[in-house]
Amino acid sequence: MSLTEHPSPVTTGDWNSQTAADAFNVQGWSGGFFGISDSGEILVYLQEEVTDPPKAFSLPHIVEQLRARGLEDPLLLRFPSILESRIRGLHEGFRNAFEKTNYKGEYRGVFPIKVNQQQRVIEEVTIFGSQFHFGLEAGSKPELMAAIAYLKDPNALIVCNGYKDRQFVDLALLARKMGLNVIIVIETAHELQIVFDRAKALNVEASVGIRVKLTSEGEGYWAKSGGEHSPFGLTYAQLFETLERLRSEDKLHWLNMLHCHQGSQIPNLETIESATREAARIFVELQKEGASMRYLNLGGGLAVDYMGTCNSGSHHSAAYSLNDYSLKVTQVVQEVAREAGVEEPTIVTESGRATTAHYSVLIIKLIDVDRFEEVFSDHGPNGTADSANPEIELLRQIAAGKSGLKPEEATLEAAKARSRHRERFIQGEISLKDQAGIEKLYWQAVTSVYRNLDPAETSPDFLEPLERQLADQCYGNFSIFQSLADSWAIDQIFPVLPIQRLNEPLTRYGVVHDLTCDCDGMIKHYPYDGAIRGNLPLHSISKNEDYYLGAFLVGAYQETLSDLHNLFGDANAISVEVVDGKLEFTSEVEGDTVADVLSYVEHDPKQLIRDFRRLAEAAVNEGRVSPAERKRALDAYKAGMASYTYISS
Ligand code: PLP
Repeated sequence: MSLTEHPSPVTTGDWNSQTAADAFNVQGWSGGFFGISDSGEILVYLQEEVTDPPKAFSLPHIVEQLRARGLEDPLLLRFPSILESRIRGLHEGFRNAFEKTNYKGEYRGVFPIKVNQQQRVIEEVTIFGSQFHFGLEAGSKPELMAAIAYLKDPNALIVCNGYKDRQFVDLALLARKMGLNVIIVIETAHELQIVFDRAKALNVEASVGIRVKLTSEGEGYWAKSGGEHSPFGLTYAQLFETLERLRSEDKLHWLNMLHCHQGSQIPNLETIESATREAARIFVELQKEGASMRYLNLGGGLAVDYMGTCNSGSHHSAAYSLNDYSLKVTQVVQEVAREAGVEEPTIVTESGRATTAHYSVLIIKLIDVDRFEEVFSDHGPNGTADSANPEIELLRQIAAGKSGLKPEEATLEAAKARSRHRERFIQGEISLKDQAGIEKLYWQAVTSVYRNLDPAETSPDFLEPLERQLADQCYGNFSIFQSLADSWAIDQIFPVLPIQRLNEPLTRYGVVHDLTCDCDGMIKHYPYDGAIRGNLPLHSISKNEDYYLGAFLVGAYQETLSDLHNLFGDANAISVEVVDGKLEFTSEVEGDTVADVLSYVEHDPKQLIRDFRRLAEAAVNEGRVSPAERKRALDAYKAGMASYTYISS
């Protein structure tokens, strides 16, 4: 093993693309859309037509072609054929479940716009989804306005959730009058009065749903979106009062949907089953009360297996498939409807995450790597003045592998020695040169302990912090706040891995930092070998090498939740499709320029240029710069305004 390489479980034994695919569990999370070629490149499987077999394309090759066209990283790649395939999978799942159970009702999916509001996604959902009457869910006025403009199909649903004012209700009612199937879901007790008033004023028969707070416990990070203490929906008592108000106004025929949402990313079918049963029971009771109930809307929650481990207890996994989900939901609804002797309802789901997560991949280039042994061993000053000091001698022994101490004791003693000498330095007892020498010795000692370990025989409690301590500090050309918001905000796991050289052993551990000046600006968790690790197994990267990571399953929520920390803006985005058997790049959306992000925070780029020009002119007048230098500075400032906010290569 060379000096700069860590011993790693992945380097033992034979290593090839298949071992890499197993270690990164590609099959588990990829949904069949990604794989690894024999030459170690990540492949994406795309279809030209839904009837075509998927064709494999190399991600590094796609990135290379985009770079040749001038599209710089970070790059968001969108794959419309994956989105189509997910929409089809969802509908086929319910169709199969209905066939299997002889279910008499229908299925109507709606896509919650908030999960990915990008124009291309909404367009795709409405065009491709039209064969399934796939609808849209709007949780706000702007989302409703997009929904009613895009959705042309009167058989598809537009479900209006969220808080509503008079304007929101008017738009929903007018769209209904024009023939769209818009359902206003009553989320708060006072909303019904707005609907009564506006329906009367506009002379429309409203179509109404009620969102209920289920008492069944949710599961997962978003469990608080459901259950009794959820901020959304009506309690049983409020629901009954709403029913009676509709009855007293002779509008019970308006009520046709029961809506609930137990939170996103529910990892197991048991939770889904109990929520579905409770919702179905309320549905049949409302039917018995005389409402014209037709739609049982179970909201979102259909999970994505980000870890690929099929684990019912992890918020980052899903212990069921799309087909298991649709079958379970169908069976439970059917059972409850049959018991109550009512017609089997139209099942509605608002699956957002499961529809779009696989659709996008973020490509991050590593632009720099810091290694402790390089920084501290190769370039540090040699030796220390205080060579007789027993602690320094011990550090030397540990570094030489001759201390006789157990690994845990050796690292502890090394840390104590370093910390005591740091104290001595602060007290003015030793020089900077000596302290630098001790730091160097410390890293040699710890690296030596690590190198002499057998990972298979070492407790993870000791091994993992040590690996984290020694991991390379890798710097990626991206902003986590802009492109992987949930990774920062709620520690969500995304599969992150190199997209090339995967047929070569991984010999390093790295932690990936972004460009922001924020200690939170890093990817903290990496799924690997079935576990969540604090560092990412990587290759040794040579200088000037274009080494890319892919962050996968980022098509749900990430673009929507992004923020402008340090004024890093939207990444370049592009759709990748197959046309006539070849790759075609469409719907290119240029990322934000510096002028864009400055204007988002209310600066006027033209005024900034004027101010800079004044500064430059004053500098010429004061003799600090020549007129030619003024021109160069002004040109650079203007070019900077028009440039991408990330590091240019
Ligand atoms: N419906 C409602 C009311 C929601 O609040 C959400 C998201 O939280 C969804 C649907 C989408 O959920 P998911 O992405 O889990 O499918």
